[in-house]
Amino acid sequence: MAEILKGGAAAKALNAETAERVSALRSRGVTPKLAILRVGERPDDLAYEAAAMKRCAALEIAAEQITLPNTVSQPELLAAIDALNADDSVHGVLMFRPLPKHLNEPEACERLHPAKDVDGITSGSMAKVYSGVGAGFAPCTAQAVLELLRHFDVDLSGKRVAVIGRSLVIGRPAAMLLMQANATVTLCHSRTEHLAEITRAADIVVAALGKAETIGPEHLCPGQVVVDVGIHYSDAKQRLVGDVDFDAVEPIVSAITPVPGGVGSLTTAILARHIIEAAEKSF
Ligand code: NAP
Repeated sequence: MAEILKGGAAAKALNAETAERVSALRSRGVTPKLAILRVGERPDDLAYEAAAMKRCAALEIAAEQITLPNTVSQPELLAAIDALNADDSVHGVLMFRPLPKHLNEPEACERLHPAKDVDGITSGSMAKVYSGVGAGFAPCTAQAVLELLRHFDVDLSGKRVAVIGRSLVIGRPAAMLLMQANATVTLCHSRTEHLAEITRAADIVVAALGKAETIGPEHLCPGQVVVDVGIHYSDAKQRLVGDVDFDAVEPIVSAITPVPGGVGSLTTAILARHIIEAAEKSF
């Protein structure tokens, strides 16, 4: 039986630390504030927005929702971002993506000031993750992978970690953060040959490939720690599943994150932490 690495436990500990830092900020007259910039009404965005609003309320972080219609023009969107950049009461901005197709998403992302980029969407934030220099933050989901491993005292130094997926949102930044924690990282992707050989040789496997229940017993060995970032709705099972076939691998590995209740449970706690860090750096 594997140890189940529950994100809720890690989130609770992180939120308790964040609450103390919110109090310290408030005692200095600073109310940390998040602005959520949403274009349109995508169900995924609405669900994450509701979770972020709830987390902010629980931690006494102010939150403002800015909602633009699907028909918004690029100049109107850029003006909204400029207004948030200029608003000193706003410490962090969460802008949902993908944006509607008619908008220039890279230009919109770049417009945001990296110091307020609490979900790591600007090249400034990427530079921060990759070099450690400058302003910005790692994407919350990538940071959640690290926080979850830290919370459960999973030793990373010198360990072999296979990260499956090289997206700019999860795989690549997670690989960089793991490397900064002194892990030896192999970054795998859709063209990787002999994936199972690589994952079986790792101490820790991070699955972020976006394919439901694809990582199975053939990819894993006893003693390994598995972090499943994937999240999908399975019509067959009528519930959420990950990129890992949990039921098949749980009897084999030493520890594994559940879906739901794993990495996803930590993302709003990381978002809150980033808002506090942005507020602390702002004065
Ligand atoms: P993505 O942009 O689709 O990237 C998937 C990556 O996996 C790509 O690098 C791709 O390789 C690689 N890949 C695809 N099939 C593969 C295979 N068979 N073997 C090895 N590599 C393969 O996905 P993403 O945005 O990074 O998201 C990954 C997963 O995380 C998704 O399931 C998403 O729903 C989930 N997610 C979870 C949270 C959370 O809070 N838990 C938040 C966001 C996303 P190429 O580069 O070669 O195409």
